[in-house]
Amino acid sequence: MNQSSTLAADVVALIEPLRAVPDKSLLVLDFDGTLAPIVADPATAMAADGVVEALEALSQNYLMVAVVSGRPVDFLSEQLPPSVYLSGLYGLESSEASVRSTNPQAEQWQPVIQEAVERSEAACGPGTALEGMDVEPKGLSLTLHARRRPHLEADVVDFARKLGLELGLDVRCAKLSVEIHPPVPANKGTVLRSLVEKSGATRVMMVGDDLGDIAAFEAIEQMALDAEIAVAVRIGVAGDEMPAVLAHSVQAIVAGPDEVVELMRELL
Ligand SMILES: [Mg+2]
Repeated sequence: MNQSSTLAADVVALIEPLRAVPDKSLLVLDFDGTLAPIVADPATAMAADGVVEALEALSQNYLMVAVVSGRPVDFLSEQLPPSVYLSGLYGLESSEASVRSTNPQAEQWQPVIQEAVERSEAACGPGTALEGMDVEPKGLSLTLHARRRPHLEADVVDFARKLGLELGLDVRCAKLSVEIHPPVPANKGTVLRSLVEKSGATRVMMVGDDLGDIAAFEAIEQMALDAEIAVAVRIGVAGDEMPAVLAHSVQAIVAGPDEVVELMRELL
């Protein structure tokens, strides 16, 4: 674990406009790979040391602090303080001051998601071609994981694509996993736009490490180009599995969750 302050000067310079005007600044962070180290069993992922304290302190000083994740809000709220706005399942559900809400369009698809869960579980039983794939039901969506059997990744994606076509569901690839979602227009980009609107922020930071974060980076970059916000800070988080394409969407890259904690402390 790297506990010393290792932030590069370019990262410190990028966040200066946020620290200068915290009451106009919205801070948004992804969870897995950003606040929590990636682990083999996703159910056991834990926020890195110092994350909870830093989020709590930031939410007292800044206009709004949000964690935007593909995880269910139930999972996030077990670890993160209620002062942080939580967006789960890529925008299908949220929690603000412990008040939950879900996307009503997505709710209508719950029976279809349930069917997708059952068909996925049937497809990865003992002796099947996808044995070792893990199925994670998330209520309004599901995730298929190839983490325990990385060589299955392409087959898991193929299976998910076919299932998505048959059931009319959206399929989105992530690190050694595939998200299967109701076909409603919700992603981290739509979440960022709604958070800017809701908070009235003019300065926004997004920190993330995976393909699903690119929509969020692009949304704030576009909002800055359109002069809807004054400052868009886009920071990637490195990891063994960081998709190379992410580098094109960010202005700087920090080393991992421990350095994200350093970044949050620097903002205080
Ligand atoms: Mg992530």
